[in-house]
Amino acid sequence: PLVLGIETSCDETGVGIVRGHTLLADAVASSVDEHARFGGVVPEVASRAHLEAMVPTIERALKEAGVRARDLDGVAVTAGPGLAGALLVGVAAAKAYAYALGKPLYGVNHLASHICVDQLEHGALPEPTMALLVSGGHSALLLAPDITSDVRPLGSTIDDAAGEAFDKVARVLHLGFPGGPVIDRYAREGDPAAIRFPRGLTGSRDPVYDFSFSGLKTAVARWIEARRAAGEEVPVADVAASFQEAVVDVLTRKAVRACADNGVDHLMIGGGVAANTRLRALAARRCEDAGITLRVPRPKLCTDNGAMVAALGAEMMARGRTASSWGLSADSSLPVTETHVPAPQGS
Ligand code: ATP
Ligand code: MG
Ligand code: FE
Repeated sequence: PLVLGIETSCDETGVGIVRGHTLLADAVASSVDEHARFGGVVPEVASRAHLEAMVPTIERALKEAGVRARDLDGVAVTAGPGLAGALLVGVAAAKAYAYALGKPLYGVNHLASHICVDQLEHGALPEPTMALLVSGGHSALLLAPDITSDVRPLGSTIDDAAGEAFDKVARVLHLGFPGGPVIDRYAREGDPAAIRFPRGLTGSRDPVYDFSFSGLKTAVARWIEARRAAGEEVPVADVAASFQEAVVDVLTRKAVRACADNGVDHLMIGGGVAANTRLRALAARRCEDAGITLRVPRPKLCTDNGAMVAALGAEMMARGRTASSWGLSADSSLPVTETHVPAPQGS
């Protein structure tokens, strides 16, 4: 099916168009520069930016794909989780668009979309899919027998998300927002073994699939403070590389372990942090050593975009999942297990 997907859960206005597993357009307008001076995403600013960018971004995607709106088979939109006001703009736009075109509407889960997007890169996902989801708000190991209807959390972070840790450490280092890409860049010039930062929840009595990044973040902040207090220069590249190594070491170790324990021969990594160069390299090496096929989409498909929403919408349609009703509302805390928001029974 030819599906248009709309994503507005955070600060990216994303509109993507796919035909089945084929990516036709991926238009993204980001308001990140407007948030940078506040050191984080400001919800009201994000909502207004979505409102302004929505129609032009839809038009840009249609043009890029070379399709007419009336040829679409359906419209998908992120129903949650995310910022309530930001989600609302996308849901309202998708509803209006689908209704006017007389096409079905699918309110889908942002997190399942971060996984399903890999179908645009590597074709049909294996079933079950083992996924490491690492983003600004989430870090989890998920086993999905069916990405459109059955996603099971094996473990998740008990405090900060991986992306959140990148953002917070970047702030302590005065590197700006968002922190992931800039730490990734600095780390390339640094020594990952320069400082041994703690690996959270890797003790023999710790939960095997859960993560913790709050202690690491604090350890990094303390290390930097001690340096500054002593009047010494902070070796930014070494701190970035050592911090990053601690994060990706734990992520890849636990993900490979989850594959082995569950007899799964592949690993999918999705979400904004999956764009990280070192995570991709270490995951590739450890998966190869363990005989696991690694699936990570290109970086642009890892961070928030509309194509991932279209990909999940297309899969919903292909599998005959129930469309959403015109009463669809955004759910800022939609759980990862709710892959989409179908119309209530009998409506
Ligand atoms: P969620 O998907 O949990 O709702 P989100 O949509 O805000 O959260 P994403 O857009 O998926 O998050 O990811 C953004 C996060 O990814 C930010 O924390 C950002 O710092 C991080 N990130 C982006 N690029 C990189 C990178 N190269 N290395 C590490 N982290 C990165
Ligand atoms: Mg973002
Ligand atoms: Fe996201």
